[in-house]
Amino acid sequence: MQFSKFGEKFNRYSGITRLMDDLNKGLRTPGAIMLGGGNPGAIPEMLDYFHQATADMLENGELVSALGNYDGPQGKNTFLTALAALLKEQYGWDISEKNISLTNGSQSAFFYLFNLLAGKQIDGSHKKILLPLAPEYIGYSDAGLDEDIFISYRPEIEHLDNRMFKYHVDFEHLEVDDSVAAICVSRPTNPTGNVLTDTEIFKLDKLAQDNGIPLIIDNAYGTPFPNIIFEEVTPFWNKNTILCMSLSKLGLPGVRCGIVIANEEITQALTNLNGIISLAPGGFGPAIAKHMIDSGDLLRLSESVIKPFYQDRAKFAVSLLQESITDNRFKIHKPEGAIFLWLWFDELPISTMELYERLKARGVLIVPGDYFFFGQKEQSEEKWDHSHQCLRMNYVQDEAKMRDGIAIIAEEVIKAYSA
Ligand code: PLP
Repeated sequence: MQFSKFGEKFNRYSGITRLMDDLNKGLRTPGAIMLGGGNPGAIPEMLDYFHQATADMLENGELVSALGNYDGPQGKNTFLTALAALLKEQYGWDISEKNISLTNGSQSAFFYLFNLLAGKQIDGSHKKILLPLAPEYIGYSDAGLDEDIFISYRPEIEHLDNRMFKYHVDFEHLEVDDSVAAICVSRPTNPTGNVLTDTEIFKLDKLAQDNGIPLIIDNAYGTPFPNIIFEEVTPFWNKNTILCMSLSKLGLPGVRCGIVIANEEITQALTNLNGIISLAPGGFGPAIAKHMIDSGDLLRLSESVIKPFYQDRAKFAVSLLQESITDNRFKIHKPEGAIFLWLWFDELPISTMELYERLKARGVLIVPGDYFFFGQKEQSEEKWDHSHQCLRMNYVQDEAKMRDGIAIIAEEVIKAYSA
């Protein structure tokens, strides 16, 4: 079959698609330990809550009403109004429902946004999305209708106590010129669990404003919901910011609801895109989120159930890893949020792709770090070994699985170091 240029690009079975297939289908090996994917944890209190909430919504007719009607292309009005009021009250932001649009998952919001802004321009020039701190979310990497729409920069590495480290934006090297369409960061970051400091966000905001381009902040794990963020930082938005949120990590990835908070021009553009591409975003996610706002449960559960669940799991996984791998060349990025740990095996004699294969053969799935360094700008002649020495693992599995998985990781890493 003859596919179009678009067809050729999006029909590609890229390395990362193969990897995601691996993760999602699960290994054929019985008892495989899945530390790779980004599915949120099954938190018993949240499962009970969603059970009860959907039962209540069935009872009062909201469920069938959400399923039986199309919303407008901007998304369910009642939810937009309730969310705008909540954010205004919570943070004092100057927003209304005219600043919010919904998409079918925030993944599709990024597809819309990147292609609205980057790629071939009307004047024939080509613009890119600047990722100031790579490693960055792999889900962005294939989203361009045009090729080569990202430029990403290495971070500075701050070494901390207890074999921990933290990435920072290397502002000295960032170059913003006419070829940059927008700056984009995930905060907390997938894959590292890093949370950009307030100072970094203020500087990025200034850089964006000075250059007349938007700052996109991917808040899929951030505040006020799902609130998987363990540092005290200030939530950030202004009319030059495009803040993307999601219901997925709240425990509702199946409803596919992404939320974009932006100025009215961007909101209108996303509304128009929705109309063409999907008529309207799904209505069930916003209906249940509206139910949670009305009952005061959205922020309460995020703060009192979701955040402590992940914080405890992260602590447990970090201490187990540190006990199991005592080599000083092994370090962990300080877990500040999101649902992953980012492990660095300095001077590892094998690549993390090889480590991935060895672990997969033993029934443990992780994600090699190489995938998260797309769009890298050459910052020096030398090859950057660090980008081949890291891996991402989620820590949402139960205690027994985490113990088994970490024991196997430790064995393979120790074997590789001593070969
Ligand atoms: N952004 C980040 C940083 C993510 O980790 C994910 C999913 O894992 C997404 C966006 C997309 O999530 P969704 O499309 O489920 O809203």
